[in-house]
Amino acid sequence: ISTAASSLASASMSTDEPIPLNFNENPLGLAPKAQQAVTDALPNAWRYPDAARSELMASIAGNLGLIESQLIYGNGSSEVLKMALDALAQSNSQLVMPDPSYGVIIDYAMARGIPVVKVKLDGDWQTDLAQMQAKVAQHNGPSIVYLCNPNNPTGLVLPQSELNQWLDKASSQLSFIIDEAYVEYVAQAGFVSAVERVKQGQSHIVVCRTFSKIYALAGLRVGYGVAHSELIKAMQAQASIDNANLIGCVAAKASLESSQWLGLSLQSNSQAKALVYQQLSELGLDYLPSETNFIFHKVNGDSGLYMQRMAKAGILVGRPFNHGEGWNRLSIGTPAQMQYFCKTLAKFRELGWV
Ligand code: PLP
Repeated sequence: ISTAASSLASASMSTDEPIPLNFNENPLGLAPKAQQAVTDALPNAWRYPDAARSELMASIAGNLGLIESQLIYGNGSSEVLKMALDALAQSNSQLVMPDPSYGVIIDYAMARGIPVVKVKLDGDWQTDLAQMQAKVAQHNGPSIVYLCNPNNPTGLVLPQSELNQWLDKASSQLSFIIDEAYVEYVAQAGFVSAVERVKQGQSHIVVCRTFSKIYALAGLRVGYGVAHSELIKAMQAQASIDNANLIGCVAAKASLESSQWLGLSLQSNSQAKALVYQQLSELGLDYLPSETNFIFHKVNGDSGLYMQRMAKAGILVGRPFNHGEGWNRLSIGTPAQMQYFCKTLAKFRELGWV
């Protein structure tokens, strides 16, 4: 596996393709077993995906210690976010969310006419749970709270004990959509996934997970939701029929069985992050210690202009975020790619650009 990974890294450095450090993908690509599963399944792609989806869901349920009625398949976790919002929305619901955070749910809320209350991150870039609770208290009606843990674009996990206290209060008037797209990267001691809440029987919490990030299947669109069986039924009623694809299902199942490749992905991500941390420290550019495969860091200037200059240098980096003026989100590529990024950043310093 490591030979395959290193040849992949050098291959992407030797082409004229820009280095994609903008969408938080896994630069090692599909696990070899997943690639094989895709090839093996292609001749069967004329069949509907039911059997492959059932096998995948059984596998996820087994891994997480859930029963299958607590799980729902999504065409990526973005569809799970939509189904959750659609199932939880009542008349007069509001959506409360941190800002900046992953914003797709805003579009879904706007399409349904659900007012969105954005709560700015606090001075330490942390999700401001106290302010969010205040917004919930002020509203005369049900609230749906979106939390991204770890948060995108900061890469920070939420304060666990404060989060626990709030999640204890979940009810028909206060429901939570917890986006755990990057959970597999989290190394912080004491972190607890909200999946545990569902296992304990809480009925107004949906956890959204994806195969687009560490599992490297962003182009195959596989995500899932975890919630109480009754809530899953309500979400299922919002799903489009046959939203799964057979190739994505077999690839996802094989990825779950590729623990060695997952370990390699984590190791590669840690090594590559360490290189970037070192370079940022040397240049005196602040950054947030990340529990994900991206780093939010200072660029000392206009983030949009920085993005354009990086693109000209052959590197696609993240975009500007609300309230993140002068900061940029950088996805972590292979160590070789990040070495190239570090050299480029050092050149930018010589030019007085960062
Ligand atoms: N949630 C978060 C926090 C993300 O960053 C992303 C993608 O960048 C998604 C969800 C959507 O992922 P997908 O729909 O590919 O599963």
